[in-house]
Amino acid sequence: AIDFKWIRDNRDAVATNIKNRNSNANLDLVIELYEKYLALQKEAERIRGVRNVVANKMKGKLELSERQALVEEGKILKEGLTALEEDLNELSDRLQQEGQCIPNITHPDVPIGDEDCSAVRKMVGSPREFSFPAKDHLQLGKELDLFDFDAAAEVSGSKFYYLKNEAVLLEMGLVNWALTEVMKRGFIPLTTPEIVRSTVVEKCGFQPRGQNTQVYSVEDSDLCLIGTAEIPVGGIHMKSILPDSSLPLKYVAYSHCFRTEAGAAGTATRGLYRVHQFSKVEMFIFCRPEESDFYHAELIGIEEDLFASLGLHFKTLDMASWDLGAPAYRKFDVEAWMPGLGRYGEISSASNCRDYQSRRLDIRYRPSTTDASAGNPKRGKGAGPTQFVHTLNATACAVPRMIVCLLENFQQEDGTVVVPKPLRPFMGGLEVISPKF
Ligand code: AMP
Repeated sequence: AIDFKWIRDNRDAVATNIKNRNSNANLDLVIELYEKYLALQKEAERIRGVRNVVANKMKGKLELSERQALVEEGKILKEGLTALEEDLNELSDRLQQEGQCIPNITHPDVPIGDEDCSAVRKMVGSPREFSFPAKDHLQLGKELDLFDFDAAAEVSGSKFYYLKNEAVLLEMGLVNWALTEVMKRGFIPLTTPEIVRSTVVEKCGFQPRGQNTQVYSVEDSDLCLIGTAEIPVGGIHMKSILPDSSLPLKYVAYSHCFRTEAGAAGTATRGLYRVHQFSKVEMFIFCRPEESDFYHAELIGIEEDLFASLGLHFKTLDMASWDLGAPAYRKFDVEAWMPGLGRYGEISSASNCRDYQSRRLDIRYRPSTTDASAGNPKRGKGAGPTQFVHTLNATACAVPRMIVCLLENFQQEDGTVVVPKPLRPFMGGLEVISPKF
């Protein structure tokens, strides 16, 4: 559950954080609703108490008239309580809805400001110098017969695509390569449901409704299409207490992702860069709170290893506060050089969400007691109170932008594209993508 008491008791810090993150959360309203909620809850308790007194009185010997009066009083109290409980439910829903918008706290090293304030933490390689006019992925795709955007536009609409020929092998190869590499590092592989309840989407910190929602909803149901495997993987342990010994719990999930891309007008939208449906391999970790910074570093390290092994030129950014979204406490993005685009483009994102998602999804663990002063007879057997785990997520491979990078960076003067060595075993040994005629 969201810690509204903490939010109210730390009002100034929360307000500053909301401002620093350029969030439109309405803190005043949240606190007002919370206080109303507490007052109603108190009133409900009071009425329940009076009802108990009345019920107890009725257990004794009574005149008929006295009994009738008590029955009448009990009836009125019950009606009042029912009405109050309805108000409480309504208020609770509104409080949750407004409360969801309050962003996570922010890591002290996060630069405050818009995207341009993001700090470069690492730079690998340098932009490839071409001795011939470089093509963009759309032109390469056309010449190598790798995509069909026109048919997809007819069948589904704009920002959909068919992959063809070696592009299909590239998608399958990239997915298998990323899964295999991440599994080598001790992650448990998963495929996930791709349609989930809207409550789970919300609890992961995404807005399933509203004008600019990125989430597709299934009509006449409370179901949504996932925008990322982070949602079903986050949900896999909801409402549970994980054994201390199971942590850190590391997963790597393959799924399709669906995004409305509402509000994306004006950003790079050509070809495969920004589409409504794509495949992605996503890493996810549940860990003890004190370890989340460590695993955040591990996740970005894995991403950097993967992209460097393909020979990409990229930089890692510590994302500025406006760009974090509500759930992340800190976020590292990787931006790779895309010659066709003539700039760096985001290919991955690694976030530490601390207890933002686990509170909402109710995922706890029971730390083994290490407190020597506890003198607890159950010491070492997981005797302490439960705590919320921390959750982290990171992209291992988002397929379309990887295809953009690979085609544009590894094109040759003769119009072919060289397949990076690590992918070849996952593509039937294919070394070069060549024109068909
Ligand atoms: P996010 O979950 O928004 O951090 O996205 C993870 C990664 O998915 C990004 O770094 C991109 O590589 C990729 N991605 C996000 N949105 C799209 C999209 N609409 N089309 C293609 N790839 C995307």
